[in-house]
Amino acid sequence: MKDCGKVLLKTAAALAILIVSVSCAATEMQAEPLRPPEEAIVLFDGTDFSHWLKEDGEPAEWKILGDAMEVVPGKGSIMTKQTFQDFQLHVEFNVPQAPSSAKEQKGGNSGVYLQRRYEIQILDSYGVEAENNDCGAIYRVKAPDKNMCKKPGQWQSYDIRFRAARFAKENGHPKKTEDARVTVLHNGVVIHSDEEIPNKTGAGQPEGAEAGAILLQDHGYKVRFRNVWIVPADDAH
Ligand code: MG
Repeated sequence: MKDCGKVLLKTAAALAILIVSVSCAATEMQAEPLRPPEEAIVLFDGTDFSHWLKEDGEPAEWKILGDAMEVVPGKGSIMTKQTFQDFQLHVEFNVPQAPSSAKEQKGGNSGVYLQRRYEIQILDSYGVEAENNDCGAIYRVKAPDKNMCKKPGQWQSYDIRFRAARFAKENGHPKKTEDARVTVLHNGVVIHSDEEIPNKTGAGQPEGAEAGAILLQDHGYKVRFRNVWIVPADDAH
């Protein structure tokens, strides 16, 4: 029995060390933004809005705060000047703490639109049972497999692998032959695995064969973004 107790103690100590080291690594990962790979197009690094426009083509009017940009509610969504087909996208975001007077439970609404067509929702969904309009959802299409949301005020990340819908000409008109597909990691955990997106979501642009911009949504909340980069895929056509 004594020996057994010792072994248990040793195991507990080893486990404690493991837990401490794993959580330290996680904290470090959270503090340090993920560095873009060499082949990435850096869309925002805290410097300026040179890669971005408002939807009407005018210059973006969001704020830069340190290495982040912040939605200025009412100034409109912003989209990349460049358009993309298949890609890998990294976005970090931070939803604001709701004012204590707020009646609405879920604040921090924004979103990352892929090709301006398909929205990966951003919302303060911390601690809720995630539905198909919560943070990480393919908006109104599919809830995330897990709710990985952090508390408001903490930096979070999306890593999104996107394959555009495929189209072929039929009687001179483009006809969709394959749905768009998406894999999403939220804070490093897979929440959608190569999911089909059957159509544009909510306020997205209609589907089509042409490439589309990445759009960050102004939905009336001071959501922040940082460290936004994209790697277009080679087999886009
Ligand atoms: Mg949204």
